[in-house]
Amino acid sequence: MYEGTRFAPTVHTDVWEIPAVLGELRESQLPGRGLLSAYLPTPPTSVAGRKYLVRFREECKAIRQRLEEASRDERQAFEAAVGRVEEYLDQMAVPRHPGLAVFAGQERGHLYAVPLPEQPVTLIVWDTQPILAPLEEILDEYERIAVVLTDRRQARLFTIYLGAIEEQQVVESDDPGKRTVSGIAGNFAQHYQENVRRHLRQTIHATMDLLRARPFDRLLLGGPVDVDTMLRDELPRPLRSRYADMLSIGLDATDAEVLETARRAAEAIERQVEREMVDELIAARTTPRAAIGLEDTLDALHDERVHRLFLVSDFAGSADECPNCGRIVAGTGECPGCGASLEPVADLRELVVDRALEQAAHVEMVSGEAADELRKYEGIGAWTRY
Ligand SMILES: [Zn+2]
Repeated sequence: MYEGTRFAPTVHTDVWEIPAVLGELRESQLPGRGLLSAYLPTPPTSVAGRKYLVRFREECKAIRQRLEEASRDERQAFEAAVGRVEEYLDQMAVPRHPGLAVFAGQERGHLYAVPLPEQPVTLIVWDTQPILAPLEEILDEYERIAVVLTDRRQARLFTIYLGAIEEQQVVESDDPGKRTVSGIAGNFAQHYQENVRRHLRQTIHATMDLLRARPFDRLLLGGPVDVDTMLRDELPRPLRSRYADMLSIGLDATDAEVLETARRAAEAIERQVEREMVDELIAARTTPRAAIGLEDTLDALHDERVHRLFLVSDFAGSADECPNCGRIVAGTGECPGCGASLEPVADLRELVVDRALEQAAHVEMVSGEAADELRKYEGIGAWTRY
């Protein structure tokens, strides 16, 4: 039916384009007999020797074996999609981001690619639908941050999303020195204060407009402390509830400084939130809704009870898997479910994340203090559905 359709490859090079890619993939008429979804980690260490390409080929080999029974048409469609992704991986520039998502079908030009702001778990899937859950998770996790830098008569407003400056604008209030002073001519200080206040009101107005246009989760302020304090005190409720911190940068900051300072502030906030989430989980460890430690968590994964999985970001536990029923066991010997001989799991982190995503669980990778706490319980835990 779609024979002869021509697609233009949609290759995005910035992480903030993820929402656009998601939209395109959700809306696109899926042509042909299948679609290849690929999530590949591309950290600097895997760029040398293009490990992501090697890994992609290995995974495709495994899918190819499973497709031996499939129709000739489907196998051809699969090979065409693989070829398209390989060609893209082969020709693309050196990755600047820690991850990459690529989607391809059999038709010429049917390819979507977008970099990822964090390292994904390797996932290559051939299916009739694109696998979008990891992209959705990424969007879910990233907060949009607004930064307002101001002095007494100028302000710069930014929104930062997915690690990049998404939008910026300048608020230019009247120069108080150029206004005609009347009536209160003698009282320069009062007049000056009024001008500053007017400027801050204008800034707040622009920030409210920005909130409607680009709904942000956190607000960071920067500038001279007295002006910042005045501004903070004037914030209306929607902005006050989002206010997170004062930054040590002013109006003259470069884009790179804004990005870096906001990133550090956002990370500190995120670490704090993670710490609170992990403390809450650990406090609930004796209740039926929480699983903590490797054995309990693997049991919950096996029963498909996991609702929210917590892992330390450098999780490197070991376990065995049953080749017969797929059960993951925190031990060796025989499968407690079916009695088959267990085999060691090569990459436990990847396997547990896969299992969690299969049961539609959220995955939280934690670091810093939250990770230190969770490490006391083998670096893994979960909220369970029952
Ligand atoms: Zn088994």
